[in-house]
Amino acid sequence: MENKAKIAVIGSYAVGATIRCRQFPAAGQTVPGHGFEMMHGGKGSNQAVAAHRMGAEVLYATCIGDDSFGQMCLDLYQQEGISTEYIRKSTEGTATGAGLIYVNENGENEIVIGLGANNEFSSEDIDRIFPEIEKCKILLMQLEMPVETVLHAAKRCKEAGVSFVLNPAPFRELPEEIFRYCDYVTPNQTEARQMLGISLSENISDEEVGIQLCNRGIKNVVMTLGEGGVLLVTESGSRIVPGIRVAAVDTTGAGDTFSGAFCVAVAEGQDPNKAAEFGNIAAGLAVTRYGVVDAIPYRKEVDSYRK
Ligand code: ADP
Repeated sequence: MENKAKIAVIGSYAVGATIRCRQFPAAGQTVPGHGFEMMHGGKGSNQAVAAHRMGAEVLYATCIGDDSFGQMCLDLYQQEGISTEYIRKSTEGTATGAGLIYVNENGENEIVIGLGANNEFSSEDIDRIFPEIEKCKILLMQLEMPVETVLHAAKRCKEAGVSFVLNPAPFRELPEEIFRYCDYVTPNQTEARQMLGISLSENISDEEVGIQLCNRGIKNVVMTLGEGGVLLVTESGSRIVPGIRVAAVDTTGAGDTFSGAFCVAVAEGQDPNKAAEFGNIAAGLAVTRYGVVDAIPYRKEVDSYRK
């Protein structure tokens, strides 16, 4: 593509260490496990890789530690061909983000994540790189960084006319003010309800949840529905954009691939319906493969699926 869409993705990098076991250990217990694996993770990083593989020019920014996991992050970006110029190292000796994931024999998982250096990415960091963010069509962020940083970035984007997209994951309490700075939010069904403080047991339709989010000031809601695709709520009404039919083997990171791909399509000028279709194809292809970064497809795969 000659004219690449330029998008900024600011968010976490973390290394995930996975181990499989029959049953989760109880407190104080040691259990045997197998299949230990370390992989790249962090929602921000996954979404940046997805956006880049979908053909965008990506400005990725985060904070890592001065340690071997931080080096893994730099290696990933060098391999992917994404600039590491805006990845800074902790000035306080904090370690790179890392998570421990236990997977039991039923495929259920227990995760503990330490965001480490990601928590140091501040409003001053946003201000420092804002002249570059301003050259982008979209800034995409998630909630694995301080909420004040996300709020500050959203506000600056609103003032500067850069579209702000929030993937509100993993959910954290948000100040009401941020809603009116969001051009799009991309929650899953649980996160969408959490954003409204609605109990998960409450009987309320996805559409009603989407409409209430728009009433709170969000411009467009793109709620992901797993294999059901997405529910789009915009000023012109709500509609389901169905997902593609695939044999899913691993849905980890599906939401990250969706958000990254959706933003690229919007930045290229596609309407929200077309962008959601594009995101559904990218995320649908990702769930047919194991892993997170390894599972993220490339643009040519999405284009050939559409033909
Ligand atoms: P999260 O992983 O954040 O909980 P979802 O489970 O809603 O998010 O999945 C995100 C997107 O991934 C969906 O909107 C859809 O495009 C795609 N997806 C997820 N699971 C499937 C599936 N089984 N078949 C096809 N597409 C899927």
